[in-house]
Amino acid sequence: MDHAADPSAAVDAPPASTLITPQPRPLTPEWLTTLAGQVALVSGASSGIGRAVALALGRSGADVVVNFASDSQGAGHVVTELHALGRRAIAVQADVSREADVEAMFARAVSEFGTLHIVVCNAGLQRDAPLEQMTLEQWNTVIGVNLTGQFLCARAAVREFKRRGFDDRSVALGKIICMSSVHQRIPWAGHANYAASKGGVMLLMQTMAQELAAQRIRVNGIAPGAIRTPINTAAWHTRQARDELMALVPYGRIGEPDDVARAAVWLASDAADYVTGATLFVDGGMTLYPGFVGRG
Ligand code: NAD
Repeated sequence: MDHAADPSAAVDAPPASTLITPQPRPLTPEWLTTLAGQVALVSGASSGIGRAVALALGRSGADVVVNFASDSQGAGHVVTELHALGRRAIAVQADVSREADVEAMFARAVSEFGTLHIVVCNAGLQRDAPLEQMTLEQWNTVIGVNLTGQFLCARAAVREFKRRGFDDRSVALGKIICMSSVHQRIPWAGHANYAASKGGVMLLMQTMAQELAAQRIRVNGIAPGAIRTPINTAAWHTRQARDELMALVPYGRIGEPDDVARAAVWLASDAADYVTGATLFVDGGMTLYPGFVGRG
């Protein structure tokens, strides 16, 4: 176990004032999941899971900042759909692995919408290669986006939550959701950079949750299994690939982006108050060791 040399360098106890916070309200069905008036930012929201999460947050009442890296058209469509739902929404280009981009994106979000309540660190990519062929560039790109990108967005989120202070839109000061993967738990041959990034996301998420709980900032993770998105087209595009994939999925179907989006809405809502540091596996049972069925 690592210890800081100087115990005074440990995280300060929160000021007493931050401990006097709203208490959970009575549980009515509407209130449990409503995000009305809250502002969310979703990274990598021009496609796949991020797109579905942005739209689901919007359907639940949140205004949404739609981050994209290069697909301005995809992001534009998401913004149009959010406007059609009656939400405020903007698309903001930022490479989440670049500090200046992330800072500028959060500044834009706050200048446009006043603050943020929900940040979903979703952007991610793969650069696959057998270990001995993996270039440093492939390694650094994946760690930069998938892990450093989550750190940069989460740090900016915490700074904004604390600047704003409590308001009456949520009982938490803020909510952060880290998009991880079943590969935070399952080793993945040929994807050392990706598995390392998601393993890192797991302990980043848990450490942030531990550090920020006293300030009523909830930090949770979602670990999707095989979800039908552009990142893993090869795994579901052909019948043979789908059949091979299904051997790994006890629930017997591929996941859809909306399966993940529903989990994100719940984690972001006050219905999940008192849930922090958790990873919600949305994987059709992929992490249940299906290879043991009938064999153990
Ligand atoms: P996707 O490729 O559709 O989405 C990834 C998004 O991240 C894209 O919109 C992409 O433009 C964006 N992005 C990439 N680099 C970026 C950067 N530097 N800055 C900002 N945005 C950037 O794939 P997806 O499946 O929707 O992936 C979303 C998240 O879900 C990723 O973190 C991925 O690791 C995770 N995930 C996906 C699956 C799955 O089966 N699809 C499974 C487990 C985890």
